[in-house]
Amino acid sequence: MTQPMRNPEIRCKHLFINNEWVNSASGKTFPIINPATGKKIADVQEGDKTDVDRAVTAARKAVEPGSVWRNMDASDRGRLLNRFADLIERDRLYLASLETFDSGRPFNDTYNTDLSMVIKCFRYYAGWTDKISGRTIPMDGEYLCYTRPEPVGVCGQILHWNFPLLMMTLKLAPALTCGNAVIIKPAEQTPLTALYTASLVKEAGFPAGVVNVIPGYGPTAGAGLSEHCDIDKIAFTGSSKVGQIISQAAARTNLKKTTLELSGRTPNVVFPDADMDRAVETCRNGLFLNMGQYSCTASRTYVHEDIYDTFVRKLVEKAKTWTVGDPFDSRTMCGPQVDQEQFDKVMSLIDSGIQSGAKVECGGRRQGSTGFYIQPTVFSGVTEDMRVGRDEIYGPVIQVIKFRTMDDVIERTNRASRGLAAGISTKSLDNVMTYSSHVRAGTIWVNSLNVFGAQTPIGGYRTSSNGKELGEYGLEEYSELKTVIIRTPTSM
Ligand code: NAD
Ligand code: MG
Repeated sequence: MTQPMRNPEIRCKHLFINNEWVNSASGKTFPIINPATGKKIADVQEGDKTDVDRAVTAARKAVEPGSVWRNMDASDRGRLLNRFADLIERDRLYLASLETFDSGRPFNDTYNTDLSMVIKCFRYYAGWTDKISGRTIPMDGEYLCYTRPEPVGVCGQILHWNFPLLMMTLKLAPALTCGNAVIIKPAEQTPLTALYTASLVKEAGFPAGVVNVIPGYGPTAGAGLSEHCDIDKIAFTGSSKVGQIISQAAARTNLKKTTLELSGRTPNVVFPDADMDRAVETCRNGLFLNMGQYSCTASRTYVHEDIYDTFVRKLVEKAKTWTVGDPFDSRTMCGPQVDQEQFDKVMSLIDSGIQSGAKVECGGRRQGSTGFYIQPTVFSGVTEDMRVGRDEIYGPVIQVIKFRTMDDVIERTNRASRGLAAGISTKSLDNVMTYSSHVRAGTIWVNSLNVFGAQTPIGGYRTSSNGKELGEYGLEEYSELKTVIIRTPTSM
């Protein structure tokens, strides 16, 4: 078993602009906290609007006609992306350890799951660089018409903290594949892996200005991106509330394009014919993954009334084996919540569940006295008029709700305005077909939850998303399509 670096050196704490490490214009720094201890591990330079301006100037230069990046053969862009993936692979242990140190996500998961997905994504997209093509269209009259995908230009990317490096990858890989320049603003809670990866951008040989990283806060550095009139596109992952602010800023300034990956509240429905043990395990793993800090997390578990009591009993047994502890320990499945704010929010939702009469079957308390640990919690007797039956908890808390019929459960799952994903456990093909065609969600998992691949698109319906990430569809978000119409010589 691979042993983590328990106290990884923090090598990159500055802004990365134009392939150089620089101080923020204001000279300000902000603290990075280890969520397992609540203690500071580094001070990082804090970027704001002035720094965003500097990065935009560099990025614009990198994509202007005649630039090295713009003139590079598509196959060479692919070679750079593969070299970048090689460097991430070389530094996998350091990156996984740094991610665990910064975010509290268990090392088993950062090393085995996140880093392998990150490397696969860069390689997957590296293969696309010279396969993005337009079409020749049979147009009426004496004309030749063809289309040609082109880069969008300068793309701002505002990231979330739950899977920091992976979140960056979902945006950075397709943007570079299509030939854009990017300015990344990592989440203020977890900027360390994005900063270190910037050093690999330079080592891989990307031209200056193609990738820039500005750590800082949302209302300053983040708003600096979304309000900038020389940024062509913003990609964002986070809350629907901030998504609306960004969307408004984009519309108010230069109508820049936006892709938004926002809040979810995934329903997971268990029918009486399901393989019970498998459904219980899928439910537990699907919710407790990453301490419940996950937009696709199955935060509403609907269980048929005929199997409700047995399901809850088995789920509680399984929940108790979800080991809480030091995220660097190989036995740990549940680390701390990312910060004090998330910890307080989850604890207050647990309290509201208790106040409103839901039954705590297990957990429900803080674990230990240092760090932001919460016990894996199962609530039974939850109804949708309770806050815990309505709000996205974003913590290790499962709410089990009863349902009776297919029509009833479809109507109730569609009542929420979100539509990121949905899950169903059943052996019946009829159930699968009926549920998956009527539920308004971007991904449907059958007898599974939270399964992703570099090749398969994700992105929700309704208020959960605007656009897709991953797979071939993810490329469309980073290209403009140009139509060329040529009058043909009359002799043809
Ligand atoms: P948040 O929305 O507050 O912050 C996310 C990012 O936005 C951070 O980088 C932050 O600095 C930045 N930001 C904050 N205010 C900003 C502003 N005014 N202008 C520009 N940028 C700003 O994060 P949160 O509330 O902790 O996120 C939790 C939510 O994110 C959950 O609802 C979850 O479902 C959602 N989420 C969705 C996905 C997805 O793929 N759909 C993935 C992860 C999280
Ligand atoms: Mg941190």
